[in-house]
Amino acid sequence: MTHLTSEQLQTLRSALEAEQATLQTDLAEHGAKEPDGVWDPSSSGLSGEEADTSDAADQIEELVTNVPIEHDLASRMHDVTDALKKIERDAYGICEVSGEEIPFDRLVANPAARTCIAHA
Ligand SMILES: [Zn+2]
Repeated sequence: MTHLTSEQLQTLRSALEAEQATLQTDLAEHGAKEPDGVWDPSSSGLSGEEADTSDAADQIEELVTNVPIEHDLASRMHDVTDALKKIERDAYGICEVSGEEIPFDRLVANPAARTCIAHA
């Protein structure tokens, strides 16, 4: 068990699930692949003799531009997913550095927080 009441946990779980849904939408909009997906060059339009080089350049530019956003979204998704897993195994709200209980107020501000304020 954690230091949080079941009502507090439910509040935080709802917030995490809502954020996870938002992140999933954002990731889809930014063209992120499935986590275990394999990039298929034959379907990218970047290969083959018929490929239009200027189109390919545009696609590469778009890919590069989106990388920082995708990285942020993906790492946020990782944190949110981890937090939900911790709720499942009653390990949620514990600082990953010190093992201290993270105050409810901090978790409300950031439900995916991995550490207490001192170790943030
Ligand atoms: Zn700590």
